[in-house]
Amino acid sequence: MNEKGLNMGWNFDNSYIHLPKKLYTQQEPTPVNSPKLVVLNKSLAKFLGLDVDSLQENIGVEILAGNRLPKGSIPIAQAYAGHQFGYFTMLGDGRALLLGEQITPKGERLDIQLKGSGRTVYSRGGDGRAHLGPMLREYIISEALHGLGIPTTRSLAVITTGEFIERRETLPGAILTRVASSHIRVGTFQYISAYGNIEELRQLAEYTLQRHYPDIASDDDRYLLLLREVIKKQAELIAKWQLVGFIHGVMNTDNMAISGESIDFGPCAFMDTYDPKTVFSSIDRNGRYAYENQPQIGAWNLARFAETLLPLLHDDEDEAIELANEEIANFHNIYQGLWLDGMRAKLGIWGKEPEDESIIMKLLDIMQSYEADFTNTFRALTIGEFSGMKIFDSNEFIKWKEEWEARINRQKVPREESKQLMRDANPAVIPRNHRVEEALEAAEKRGDYGVMDRFLKILSDPFAYSRDQEEYAKLPPPSEIPYRTFCGT
Ligand code: AMP
Ligand code: MG
Repeated sequence: MNEKGLNMGWNFDNSYIHLPKKLYTQQEPTPVNSPKLVVLNKSLAKFLGLDVDSLQENIGVEILAGNRLPKGSIPIAQAYAGHQFGYFTMLGDGRALLLGEQITPKGERLDIQLKGSGRTVYSRGGDGRAHLGPMLREYIISEALHGLGIPTTRSLAVITTGEFIERRETLPGAILTRVASSHIRVGTFQYISAYGNIEELRQLAEYTLQRHYPDIASDDDRYLLLLREVIKKQAELIAKWQLVGFIHGVMNTDNMAISGESIDFGPCAFMDTYDPKTVFSSIDRNGRYAYENQPQIGAWNLARFAETLLPLLHDDEDEAIELANEEIANFHNIYQGLWLDGMRAKLGIWGKEPEDESIIMKLLDIMQSYEADFTNTFRALTIGEFSGMKIFDSNEFIKWKEEWEARINRQKVPREESKQLMRDANPAVIPRNHRVEEALEAAEKRGDYGVMDRFLKILSDPFAYSRDQEEYAKLPPPSEIPYRTFCGT
């Protein structure tokens, strides 16, 4: 094997291990029987500076399976806590290990994590393993979000382990290689706040500032600014989710990244029929994480984050609470402003007029009453083809369309630019639930990864409005059974 093959381009640093020891446990992956590479993200591999050919060879696959460690890796399981459905719990990487931080050729620092790599000290009763379906699902959805221009952790590869794991049924085991700008969660702060001292909290906050918010890292008010920046990042993220109908499904505080990336794709799915109350997750019985609740849950999680920072914000607790409250109170306005701007773009509206919000809300109301598909309504408005959906024949819509067109005609921007704005804001395709299922079924039941490959290609540029995408924009035949998703643990 040549030098490149051995090194494969791994260029690890391990800065996290300089944090307080209670934040992680050094631990090696548990080897698996007969790993097989089933999906590899070649463009991401290249971006990371990895040699694509050697990743596909035996040694590369052994590394992606956790059977061998790449040069420079010091694997750790990270400790974190979190509010799960509102209840505080001690968690941690129960089935994942951070191999290290890859420094890319461009100098970016990205976590490389194996998910499904075996038991850790944080596994509790779990087996530390993952099964194939949810790992492929995470791969598809994270790469789809990336294609949509939404901050997200990425997926480098999925390998099957050659082992079977016991759930309700016996399922093939798999390991996903996740790439993230870090795995620091709101829950990481909650952990150190609950089990550490103020010095340890300060170390985590300083580390986070250096890693994610270097521009404010030397400011006297840096902890308050950290809170402000994280609030802004989450408002941006959740606005982007809402604008494409993405429902995360399990917005527990351990699943909220301080970097502002989408993370942990268990029961997530994209809304089809527009209904603010949409919930897909089988375990979300009260609709806590329904589509319409995502912004306020975001604010709730950020309040939990703010609580952890209180000792750093001010020596006087009351003053600290006041400072934190002021920041949290801004979330709604920041979010609402971003959402409105995003909706304007979806409708080709430049500039701002007071009536804009009412135009937007009217359309959403009509969409809801006519059970219109969220993505395809905006797609139709973008391409100007109003057929095949009952909403378009309704008087309400025809009247609304006149009002909308009058708004467009009032602006001094050429019509073409308006259209372009809409094309850049309204995806022609999203990972539709039946298409996700189709890809997973082909892979899981028949070992056919071609369906998933083609789907991923379509999703990589959702704003292309290409011929190939038309088929993927279509809805499935109507079904009596509501779509349900599962946590995938
Ligand atoms: P999640 O629902 O993926 O956010 O996971 C919640 C918690 O359960 C995390 O601490 C996971 O590490 C842990 N967990 C999930 N699946 C397993 C498993 N099979 N074995 C051990 N721990 C797990
Ligand atoms: Mg999680």
